[in-house]
Amino acid sequence: MFALVKELSELAGPTGHEDAVQDWLERRWSGFATDVRRTRVNNILARVGGSGPLLVLVAHADEICLMVKSVTDDGFLHLWPYYRDQLGKPPRWFTPLNQPALVVSSSGNVPGIFATASGHVVGGQNSQKDQFEWNDWFVDIGVRSRDDVESLGIGPGARVIWNPETRRIGRNITGKAMDDRAALAIATAAGELLAGRDDLGYEVWLASTVQEENGLLGAASLADEISFDCAIALDVGLTGDIPGPDKRDFPSRLGAGPIIVYQDASCHYSRRLTDKLLGIAKAEEIPVQRAVFQNYGSDGAALIRRGVETALVTYPTRYTHSPIETVDETDLQYTVNLLAAFVLTGDQGSDVPSMNTGTNS
Ligand SMILES: [Zn+2]
Repeated sequence: MFALVKELSELAGPTGHEDAVQDWLERRWSGFATDVRRTRVNNILARVGGSGPLLVLVAHADEICLMVKSVTDDGFLHLWPYYRDQLGKPPRWFTPLNQPALVVSSSGNVPGIFATASGHVVGGQNSQKDQFEWNDWFVDIGVRSRDDVESLGIGPGARVIWNPETRRIGRNITGKAMDDRAALAIATAAGELLAGRDDLGYEVWLASTVQEENGLLGAASLADEISFDCAIALDVGLTGDIPGPDKRDFPSRLGAGPIIVYQDASCHYSRRLTDKLLGIAKAEEIPVQRAVFQNYGSDGAALIRRGVETALVTYPTRYTHSPIETVDETDLQYTVNLLAAFVLTGDQGSDVPSMNTGTNS
């Protein structure tokens, strides 16, 4: 599982330019799926197999990013965020500074660093400010002029992601884009586990959507491609197991199994499917946590709006939307096991077939 998460999370897939992720998935999913489709807006759909109600496991390809808005005469890139900025400056939680950067353009990827003037050279008004403005930050790609930048195919509209490598730290996995590549790793592992079996209780599909981080845009059209009966959205789950958060608000923690979410800031998930997931977890002795989330949304809301009954299954994740998103490998494997047990149980069944998927990677 670590190798799969590392490979997927290190792909560059900023919102609106998810091609590297979708290319990878199209190839990998073609290895076991009977029907792999790329939609007009760049979602990927893959039929794993089985018969019965149409179930889709949904995760998103995009990661949060910054947008190049202008280039200085001496070749530095100025930025705006990927989202509609109502604050007019970077919020406290948005922390790209001093990270390795990767500029993603139609001409290719160019490495850089997210920088600001350091204490030795900052002066004048800037030294009095206690909060950054967007224009205090820039990306340095090691060139000397605007012409150099243009010759690399970079200009306004290019995207920039933070780009640390994915590594093990103690019992955890830390890197960029655990949101939502760890979910795509889970979907891939579940697809490989279930493909070719003749005892699936659903016709199972996988989907990788674009622009989740921008109003769930990709997921909004999945129902136009295929009339799914139900869906399980897969995404990062919020935990309070670090200094700071109030555990009354965020009782979930790393290593205690997937978090099944009843409601978040964007919707109420299917209580029927959610209860069923909990029942299956109990029968299969798969550890799970239950939660409601504030300040959070998922592709599930877009699917429910289009008439697809949807549950949300998440894996505990610390430091979401930062360069150090952190997960526990055992939670990812438990999520695969839970999805497999759900699929094998089927829509009507109350008996849970015996699974022997193990919890090791
Ligand atoms: Zn996400």
